[in-house]
Amino acid sequence: MTILTPNSPTAELQALDAAHHMHPFTQGVELAEKGARIITRADGCWLTDSDGNRILDGMAGLWCVNIGYGRTELADAAHRQMLDLPFYNTFFQTSHVPALNLAAKLAELAPVDLNHVFFAGSGSEANDTNLRMVRTYWQEKGQPERQVIISRWNAYHGSSVGSGSLGGMKGMHAQGGMPIPGIHHIDQPHWWAEGGYSTPEAFGLERAQALETAILEIGPEKVAAFIAEPVQGAGGVIIPPDTYWPEIQRIVDKYDILLIADEVICGFGRTGNWFGSETFGIKPDIMTVAKGLSSGYQPIGASIVSDKVASVIGNTEFNHGYTYSGHPVACAVALENLRILEEEGIVERVRNETAPYLKERFESLADHPLVGEVKIVGMMGSLALTPDKATRAAFAADAGTAGFICRERCFANNLIMRHVGDRMVISPPLVISKEEIDTLVTRARLSLDEALERLQKDGLM
Ligand code: PMP
Repeated sequence: MTILTPNSPTAELQALDAAHHMHPFTQGVELAEKGARIITRADGCWLTDSDGNRILDGMAGLWCVNIGYGRTELADAAHRQMLDLPFYNTFFQTSHVPALNLAAKLAELAPVDLNHVFFAGSGSEANDTNLRMVRTYWQEKGQPERQVIISRWNAYHGSSVGSGSLGGMKGMHAQGGMPIPGIHHIDQPHWWAEGGYSTPEAFGLERAQALETAILEIGPEKVAAFIAEPVQGAGGVIIPPDTYWPEIQRIVDKYDILLIADEVICGFGRTGNWFGSETFGIKPDIMTVAKGLSSGYQPIGASIVSDKVASVIGNTEFNHGYTYSGHPVACAVALENLRILEEEGIVERVRNETAPYLKERFESLADHPLVGEVKIVGMMGSLALTPDKATRAAFAADAGTAGFICRERCFANNLIMRHVGDRMVISPPLVISKEEIDTLVTRARLSLDEALERLQKDGLM
């Protein structure tokens, strides 16, 4: 068979893709008819497709390319590591240099006593590790009945059976026998969609107190852990009211429940600090990381574990691990990525310069007739689309219809934004410049104008 190249004609690439490639979270038949957009190259914050379009990537791939595309240092690190030691495992009392260095670096960067690292190949795998680790922790502590993990509806923690069960995506639970037993979901702190009857502050407290209610219903002696993203990403960049996290922390402390902060999106600068836990004043016992850990240049995830948990887990043989736990090439690339983030002061630049600028520019979209609320922290933001700002009304169409139309207009205007239902989301590379921020916001406004016109024409508002 012929191997196609990035220079092959788009129609040929699309036909071969449609014939053999099954896409995640995609209706295959519909995509096969339409043809996938084929991305061939990328540099900085810009993608190139097989038709030669230059597209501004407002999503950093899938919330992961924190240092931007095209950093040759990471390619060089991978090349060097592949020549030295392309693979070895970390089972059976062995280790290797990239894994031990990366674990030490993560311990240095992570807050307070998060000093131990269990590697995985992805965020989903790391959350599967967490699920088993917290249950094993309580077993080893002589409280084996502490097995229930509390999570939230509309959380995203991954796509494996374990992590998908931890997540609160009902569309995912409907397929393939999820959630597994022992996971309890509480309501999310999504003021715009669910809380308009009170102030954000009161609503934030109410939704945090739902955790206490759940703990008391289940019985505190049966609850192992609470897991949450500091900011729900895939759920639509839901930034909780200020009252939410302090109350959650009070509750987990009161009942001695382990707190898992899923930092897969929030980690490595996304919220303007190294970790979202710092931005929101959270003290987790375990942090899940992936994505920005390698800026997506290699698949890698990890659980960063506190002294308290690691000392207990270390007393037993934890019968868990992946062939690619601490893959040497992925670790070497991640280490180089962290060096760049640190030495180039990228997180500080986000916090002090570009995030405040993005906030000001992005919030200027609030005056658009389609935009209900604008939420942003660091380099992640969202816009709620609505036909009526005052009542926070939904469109006269299935949820997601307006969002999809808006996303298609963004694509047509060479801007990648994502839609989650009728919420438009951005999460650009952390290296985005002020000029590129201007381009992002200008293209977003144009796309909103075009979406508005289309929605009016179709009688959807
Ligand atoms: N947790 C969060 C918060 C995520 O956003 C994601 C991915 N979007 C995951 C876990 C799963 O990570 P992965 O896709 O690498 O398995």
